Amino acid sequence: HKFHPCDEAVIATNDDASDCKRGAVRLGYWKDDYIGFFVRNQERKAPEINRGYFARVKGVEMCVEKFLKKTSGNCQIINLGCGFDTLYFRLRDTAHKVKNFIELDFPTVTARKCYTIKRNKALLGKINDEDGEVRLSPTDLHGPNYHLMGVDLRNLDEVDNKLQQAEVDFTLPTIFLAECVLVYIEAQNCRNLLKWIAQKFQAAVFVNYEQVNMNDRFGDVMLNNLRSRGCSLAGVESCLSLETQTNRFKDSGWSGARAWDMVQVYDSISSSERQRIERLEMLDEGELLLQLFQHYCLVVAWLGVAFQDLDITVE
Ligand code: SAM
Repeated sequence: HKFHPCDEAVIATNDDASDCKRGAVRLGYWKDDYIGFFVRNQERKAPEINRGYFARVKGVEMCVEKFLKKTSGNCQIINLGCGFDTLYFRLRDTAHKVKNFIELDFPTVTARKCYTIKRNKALLGKINDEDGEVRLSPTDLHGPNYHLMGVDLRNLDEVDNKLQQAEVDFTLPTIFLAECVLVYIEAQNCRNLLKWIAQKFQAAVFVNYEQVNMNDRFGDVMLNNLRSRGCSLAGVESCLSLETQTNRFKDSGWSGARAWDMVQVYDSISSSERQRIERLEMLDEGELLLQLFQHYCLVVAWLGVAFQDLDITVE
């Protein structure tokens, strides 16, 4: 596979996200018995970063949980730009069941994920524990209800082809996850992807976590930081406001969308859980964390009426 230099930089953002998740897990922010297989780095991050990742992981998890409850597990999860995310393995340790779990990322990333899964029984065993057969290629892995595949999300023919290989069911309620992924995809490609999903699937929810309110000073600093690492932020025009975030879905054939900044998402986490993690590390002052929370958001879009009240805020 040939990659554009920007793609290399985008691929590297996964190492960063995985390092940060690993670090926060190690400090006790949340439980993840699997991320350690994918990451070796032990560098300690700032408390603000750890709390930011906590809110991110919790926010996405809250949406997934609501969806699984609503569908009683009669559903699919499709993780776009999955990186080394461990949700599949973590869910296997809960009572939640899903019909199919599909993960997509660039082949460079999925090859590393496949390799790590193949080498570790604790991971592979979660995929084939019901005597199911696991088929492996260097970049793709197929289990009875888990599929990890290398694909460029901008190439819809290839995405279609891969989803068929994963035995996707277009009629089954499906939750799409994209954690810090769409910002790297050219606006037009992203709209095409969202439109394509809206046309193909009958009932779906899309959970998107990424940057928002990028048109102020703090946003400039965040974007320059990413650009200095060589990432083209081709999708950044949708990260200007909560409105641009939701409009992108509404303009692409989705029935509706809601967005919350991470201040709101953090506030919707139970107070006992917030108190627990706030005791893990002291913050010098709350200003930086507040700025970070104001510049990330969670967007929930839905197709069809069944999932329009998948509301993460407690009121
Ligand atoms: N979602 C994971 C998480 O939160 O831990 C990884 C996040 S990482 C910041 C962004 C991921 O999106 C990378 O793994 C990158 O390879 C993937 N990605 C970005 N653009 C992509 C594209 N066009 N096709 C496939 N994957 C892409």
